[in-house]
Amino acid sequence: MSNRGMLIVLSGPSGVGKGTVRQAMLEDEFRDFHYSVSMTTRKPRPGEQDGVDYYFVSKEEFEQEIANDGMLEYAQYVDNYYGTPMKYVNQTLDSGRDVLLEIEVQGAMQVREKCPDGVFIFLTPPDLLELRNRIQRRGTDDQATIDKRMQKAADEIKMMENYDYAVVNDEIPNAVQRIEKIIESEHLRVPRVIDQYKKMIGE
Ligand code: 5GP
Repeated sequence: MSNRGMLIVLSGPSGVGKGTVRQAMLEDEFRDFHYSVSMTTRKPRPGEQDGVDYYFVSKEEFEQEIANDGMLEYAQYVDNYYGTPMKYVNQTLDSGRDVLLEIEVQGAMQVREKCPDGVFIFLTPPDLLELRNRIQRRGTDDQATIDKRMQKAADEIKMMENYDYAVVNDEIPNAVQRIEKIIESEHLRVPRVIDQYKKMIGE
């Protein structure tokens, strides 16, 4: 187990800033993990690139991947599919490198079942009003979609108890720093390092 990379799951309500925090983590020159690009049936937003932000696919293509058992997890979220292709995650973990997933809560719970030794981090908004402001400021969703996302966010916050860590996203750099500290400490947990010490003492 110690030679395998660590799976880091960043989750939390939509609009809490997961994408921005993930982006800031990826831009940190000292980062030492690989990001798993998700697949979605949602249309690209302005500036989003296929293969970088998401793999943008049709509903049929996505359903084919599910049928082929190609998804580590997937969820239907606000009328679209989102999911994590399994192959990249497994190959990267097998090569000893850490993988970061940024996914919503239903998907995170599926990963928890399949990969219980992952690190599950729940990003929280400082409060719900701030969450609505952030979604509105983004300006990409109509009112009905915003209302749907807010109802969903309240339900999602109740899911926090299924995670290992809760990180408040008050300021992006602070949230990033908290997550990096978690990753650093998780690497020192005895179950992750015991094998290499056993080898060292010839056991
Ligand atoms: P958005 O449409 O704002 O990019 O994403 C909507 C939600 O889907 C966000 O909460 C985002 O974290 C989540 N999401 C993105 N990729 C995945 C994925 O691969 N699996 C799951 N379950 N959720 C995802």
